[in-house]
Amino acid sequence: MNVVVLLGAPGAGKGTQAPLLATRLGIPAIATGDLFRAAVRDGTALGQEARRYMDAGQLVPDEITVRLLLDRLERPDATAGVILDGFPRTGVQAEALDRALAERAARVGAVVLVDVPADELVRRLSGRWICRAAGHPYHETFSPPRVAGVCDIDGSELYQRVDDRPDTIRARMDQQLGALAEVIDHYRTAGLLRTVDGLQGIDLVAEAIDAALAEAGIRPAGVPGEHVTG
Ligand SMILES: [Zn+2]
Repeated sequence: MNVVVLLGAPGAGKGTQAPLLATRLGIPAIATGDLFRAAVRDGTALGQEARRYMDAGQLVPDEITVRLLLDRLERPDATAGVILDGFPRTGVQAEALDRALAERAARVGAVVLVDVPADELVRRLSGRWICRAAGHPYHETFSPPRVAGVCDIDGSELYQRVDDRPDTIRARMDQQLGALAEVIDHYRTAGLLRTVDGLQGIDLVAEAIDAALAEAGIRPAGVPGEHVTG
C-alpha cells in the first residue's frame, strides 16, 4: 500500500494538486475535513464522537482523527494506497499516524512538500475582495475587476473581509507554518521528505510531484517503472 503525504501551507496549491495526483496514481486523495463531514453525516459512532467536539467548538482529538483515517484505509478503493491531503497537521499527529500504520504493517512511503514562500502565500490569500451587493468574489492578481474597487456585475463597492486582510492572513499563517515545520522536520528526519517548487504553474508542479514520487518508487498507474522496447 502506497501512503503518500502531500504537505503544503494554505495557498500553496496542495488542494489543487491532491485530486489531480489521485487521478494519475489511481488511488483516492483523502482530506480529513471530508472524513469528519462524512462520518457526522452517516452518524457513525466515531462521527458522533467527533461531532461532540465540533459542536463545542473544540478541535477533534488526534486519536479520533487517526481512527477515522484508519477506517477509511480499510475501504476497498484504498487497497493500492492513498494520498493524505491536510493530515498530519502537527508533529504529534505525524507520530500517531506512524504508530497506527505500523500496527497494520504499513508505513508512509513518500512525503511531498509543495513549497511556497510565506510572502507569496500571504499575497495569494490576501488578495480576495468581494462586492457589497451580492458577494461576487475577485482577486487582485488572479481575477481583478475591470475597474479597481467596483463589481463588474452590479457596480457595487468591493471590500475586504477582516479574514482576508493581509495582517489577519499573516498572523494565521505564522501559526500554521509553525505546525507545518514540525511535520516537515518529522519526515525529513525519517528521510521521506521531498520538496517541489510551488511557485511554478499547476502543470509543472504536477510534473515535479510525479518526479519526486518516482524517486520513491511510486509511479502513475499504467506507467511501468522500466520500459523495455524491442
Ligand atoms: Zn457584485
